[in-house]
Amino acid sequence: MSMEDLRKDFPILQEKVYGRPLVYFDNAATTQKPQCVLDKIMTGYTKYNANIHRGVHYLSQLATEAHESARQVVADFIGALDRTNIVFTRGTTEAINLIAFSFGEQFVGEGDEVLITTMEHHSNIVPWQMLCGRKKAVLRVVPVLENGELDMDAYRHLLSDKTKIVSVAHVSNVLGTVNPVRDIIRLAHEKKVPVLVDGAQSVPHMPVNVRDIDADFYVFSGHKIYGPTGVGVLYGKKEWLEVIPPYQGGGEMIANVTFERTTYNELPYKFEAGTPDYIGSTALAEALRYVGQIGMDKIEAHEQSLIQYATARLKEIEGMRIIGEAGQKSGVVSFLVGKIHPYDLGMLLDKMGIAVRTGHHCAQPLIDYYGIPGTVRMSFGLYNTEAEIDMFMQAMKRVVPMLN
Ligand code: PLP
Repeated sequence: MSMEDLRKDFPILQEKVYGRPLVYFDNAATTQKPQCVLDKIMTGYTKYNANIHRGVHYLSQLATEAHESARQVVADFIGALDRTNIVFTRGTTEAINLIAFSFGEQFVGEGDEVLITTMEHHSNIVPWQMLCGRKKAVLRVVPVLENGELDMDAYRHLLSDKTKIVSVAHVSNVLGTVNPVRDIIRLAHEKKVPVLVDGAQSVPHMPVNVRDIDADFYVFSGHKIYGPTGVGVLYGKKEWLEVIPPYQGGGEMIANVTFERTTYNELPYKFEAGTPDYIGSTALAEALRYVGQIGMDKIEAHEQSLIQYATARLKEIEGMRIIGEAGQKSGVVSFLVGKIHPYDLGMLLDKMGIAVRTGHHCAQPLIDYYGIPGTVRMSFGLYNTEAEIDMFMQAMKRVVPMLN
């Protein structure tokens, strides 16, 4: 399919902002949706909307089937053993909170350690901090090197007999660093420590196989991979999901309830209290089918060439400082120009139809480590083009002198 045809799949890309063509470089925050995903949402509500799992009636059975086959699509997409490894959540954030709570309840106690890294999104910091506060455990942090790569020597040293779990981003949403998760997991497993991988910024940009990297938990958000908001995924190995307690109580997660005692449902329902977003799950499955048809390897290659092109062109600008120059990057390019505040640059680019994100990108400790006010972040999706980067550069060459 030509890029022109592919872009036609995304209705919002035909919109104008301030009378100009939209250049959307904020895909790390959320991606735009193809028509097939929008249609799927509409079909869900117009053809088979009924609460799932509970009804004997026709519509409820259709909805249940759609939700459960969506679970299978997700399992296949990330290489899970089977659909019972897949728990639907509201997104990455809820999935991490679920594990921080449920794993933490069972396995983390006073003096134990939880290991994260400097480059984590707040979603992968705060739930662990809350757990450590509750349990009097200690949060340890693997430092980042100046170029944006993880300090693997420090990681080896920080992994200890006290470590109960490691939680790490597969790809940094600020630096674009692709972390060596296979090595991180292997080293942790040598000490029998499980690893949660935050895949929010990896699943949309590269082929991912959770069993290949041997992740114990892997989480991502639907809205960052061309699916709807409000639905996300927790993958977990059965050996862990079976032994940790439920996160929330309510309907669906139970086997039997009396006032004295409740027994819990089998996997994955034990972790899905209440009515799930069954319209969202089916639309997410549609998004995964869509990217699967294009091919994640093709998407990866295309976005890699955009990163290389953007990085080379950015360097034409005097005072350019790229934040994050790891050997392996994905999805994003963050930068600063001279003493210009990222917010001012973002505001002026916006007026020229270019959507970038500015600020701390929900990773304040990382921004503090670099001692900067934030960054301007371009983040790419499958529909972005070199021509858009050229438009962005034209805009930069106008606005940078205005702000200098
Ligand atoms: N983790 C990373 C690396 C992210 O980039 C994000 C969102 O930007 C999140 C977690 C949180 O995702 P969500 O807000 O969809 O739960």
